[in-house]
Amino acid sequence: MKYFIINRGDEVSQALHERFIRLADQYGLTLDEEQPDTVLSIGGDGTMLQAFHRYKDQLDRLSFVGLHTGRLGFFADWKPEELDTMARVMARPPEEHPHSFVEYPLLSIELHTADGMESRLALNEFTIKGIEETMVARLDVNDVIFETFRGDGICISSPSGSTAYNKSLGGAVIHPSIPCLQITEIASINNRVFRTVGSPLVLPKHHHCDIYPQAGKRMSFSLDHLGFQRDNLVSIRTSVAKETIRFARYRPYPFWSRVQRAFIGQEPTEF
Ligand code: NAD
Repeated sequence: MKYFIINRGDEVSQALHERFIRLADQYGLTLDEEQPDTVLSIGGDGTMLQAFHRYKDQLDRLSFVGLHTGRLGFFADWKPEELDTMARVMARPPEEHPHSFVEYPLLSIELHTADGMESRLALNEFTIKGIEETMVARLDVNDVIFETFRGDGICISSPSGSTAYNKSLGGAVIHPSIPCLQITEIASINNRVFRTVGSPLVLPKHHHCDIYPQAGKRMSFSLDHLGFQRDNLVSIRTSVAKETIRFARYRPYPFWSRVQRAFIGQEPTEF
């Protein structure tokens, strides 16, 4: 089994990284940066986002696993004190843990500019915002005009990203086994003149959403932890990607338990 590690860069994550290499040696795992079977992220959710973007071209052959060095992350469920167990479990032959992978949907983004088309993948979300002024854009669903949006921007998230930026925008938390995307508004202007649906929309697989911003405006984008700008944008198409991400699940950790731990984190009070 070949592995590679990406760590957050802080002292604790770096020390765990070095310790894992020593353990992996003992268990017969091979360090391979070019073609690992498993990518271990040590740090937080942001570290997993970095790992995903670094290895997004090999999604069909590798899996990811995360260890958190801060609070429990959505993509990082192993604790520092479990490092030894983790190395041991990773070294087991695949036939000994046949059900230990989960596949989650990703978001596909096609940026159509005057110069051509760029394809991107997001693990969490993609956002589009205006820069100097309010963003104005037409939004089509499955090639039919849906609304004209005016406001700060639009966020389109994957089910995995539903607990991230999407949740802060009032979007629904979606189980990542459901292949869909979610569109949430970022501060839309709604009055007698401008009207948007005002609710998050959840689109199933095989549906798509096109955004046509006002021509000639420079726009700002975020793709997970990455940011960039374009001034020659024509339209953006988002849909559920045909690629998926595979996480190694060497032990069960139900999604709803993660949600409960992350956002509620206490026993319900008696009533
Ligand atoms: P960061 O360090 O500022 O992380 C932001 C927070 O988002 C962290 O607490 C992280 O644990 C959490 N997070 C990331 N992915 C998550 C997920 N799938 N479910 C639940 N929580 C998650 O920034 P970063 O490390 O560069 O991460 C980029 C992410 O930050 C973006 O993908 C976006 O989702 C999130 N973000 C959130 C807001 C917001 O909630 N208002 C604003 C901007 C970005």
